[in-house]
Amino acid sequence: MAGAQCHEYTTLMAASYCINHTDRKAAHRCFTCHKPLCDDCVHQEAEGEFCGSACRENYQKFHARYEPERSSGLFGWLFGGIKNLIVTVIGLGILGLILVYAGAKILGLGFCQNLLKTLGIP
Ligand SMILES: [Zn+2]
Ligand SMILES: [Zn+2]
Repeated sequence: MAGAQCHEYTTLMAASYCINHTDRKAAHRCFTCHKPLCDDCVHQEAEGEFCGSACRENYQKFHARYEPERSSGLFGWLFGGIKNLIVTVIGLGILGLILVYAGAKILGLGFCQNLLKTLGIP
């Protein structure tokens, strides 16, 4: 099924004549299914050019579902979360190193001095 659709899609992309009028040059393409359309067959809508109302509805549904998420939804949340995690990990690492360094130099803790020696820090 998927293979047949793929083949159909490739054929449609290569075609330059209207799907309904094989003798007419296609001047338009449906935004959703990419079928070539002539001036008589194209449906000019506010969203773009479509072969029919079904494709227009699909286009509207697709955008209603994905557009808000792209800007501020799951993706933004996930991206922000990963960024915050990296910043936190780096921050904690630096803080830990400072604590170990301070512990070794100021307090003279044997544990910290050994840890610094292991890390190669004098
Ligand atoms: Zn279409
Ligand atoms: Zn046509």
